[in-house]
Amino acid sequence: MKAISINQFGGPEVCEIQETAIPAPAAGEVLVRVAYSGINFIDVYMRNGTYARSHTYKTPLPMVIGMEASGTVEAIGDGVSDIKVDQRVAFCLSRGSYAEYVAVPAWKLVPLPGDISLEIGAAAMLQGCTAHYLSHSAFPLQRGQSCLVHAGAGGVGQLLIQFAKHLGATVFTTVSTPEKADIASSRGADHCILYRDTNFREEIMKLTSGKGVDVVYDSVGKTTIADSIRCVRRRGLCVLFGASSGVVDAIEPLALAEAGSVFFTRPHLADYMVTADEIRGRAGDLFRLVKEKRLSMTIDTVFPLADAASAHRHIEGGKTRGKLLLQVQ
Ligand code: NDP
Repeated sequence: MKAISINQFGGPEVCEIQETAIPAPAAGEVLVRVAYSGINFIDVYMRNGTYARSHTYKTPLPMVIGMEASGTVEAIGDGVSDIKVDQRVAFCLSRGSYAEYVAVPAWKLVPLPGDISLEIGAAAMLQGCTAHYLSHSAFPLQRGQSCLVHAGAGGVGQLLIQFAKHLGATVFTTVSTPEKADIASSRGADHCILYRDTNFREEIMKLTSGKGVDVVYDSVGKTTIADSIRCVRRRGLCVLFGASSGVVDAIEPLALAEAGSVFFTRPHLADYMVTADEIRGRAGDLFRLVKEKRLSMTIDTVFPLADAASAHRHIEGGKTRGKLLLQVQ
């Protein structure tokens, strides 16, 4: 089969298409014939070595990257009873999805409802389940509360804004350009802050009469975290969940105290997708809202598998206005 294999950490050019053996599903696994593989920022961290020391996400070289896909079931390993050959499925958090076939633990698979396309199946899982756990579990938003979502026109950002609005929250968001502000507004954001023109912390304080927001969801990291903490209301929560601008390697405990005894967490999706019930529950909510047209997703660009490097340049360049997919077969 063809796969994008990484032989050394580095820039997008290390994404090389190679011939490799089709994996055999072990006991408890299912072999999926991949239709679309989703591109996520985590793939960049795996490719460039950011996660080389991560205990949660292993990155042994050489490796096939890619953390989510949709496709059809090709073969089933011993002990799997609830998944059938030819069934349409999607999954996330199982590495190796930039490939024509991938063996996935059966408990991580989500059967796709008939009205959900393979494109949406691949596009929705990782970013959608992330937006779901952030808004429903890491900080369960309630009607009347407020949040700040950074990168509101990005993949996770657009979905997080929509979940937050469904839950009844007021949503503030930061974006780099007026075009991206239009995208975030179309997803329901109440206030879009153009962070290149305006200091986002001063703007949040002005808009909340000096109180701050109940929760900040920060995926940008290095360039935003200090001010993010200072946007949170007294005893609110700062959720740092990404590093699009670079890794945050230290937080001063006193900075949390001085911001108003703010709580701080740095979650991984994997810790909020621990059982089959949890995965299927989040994905079920997601697909139901898509079906009811209460959650919209935009496919930004579909790249051929062989052009994974261009997809990485696109996401790293901050060009995303929705989901990037690789068409595999
Ligand atoms: P996005 O589509 O959101 O792309 C990243 C966006 O970040 C850009 O479009 C850009 O928006 C903004 N950005 C700000 N500074 C930079 C910079 N220096 N370089 C590049 N982009 C920048 O990506 P995803 O939706 O795929 O992922 C969003 C984040 O969520 C990532 O950091 C990812 O790692 C994280 N994540 C974390 C998970 C977790 O459980 N912890 C799970 C899934 C994703 P703008 O132009 O408006 O600034």
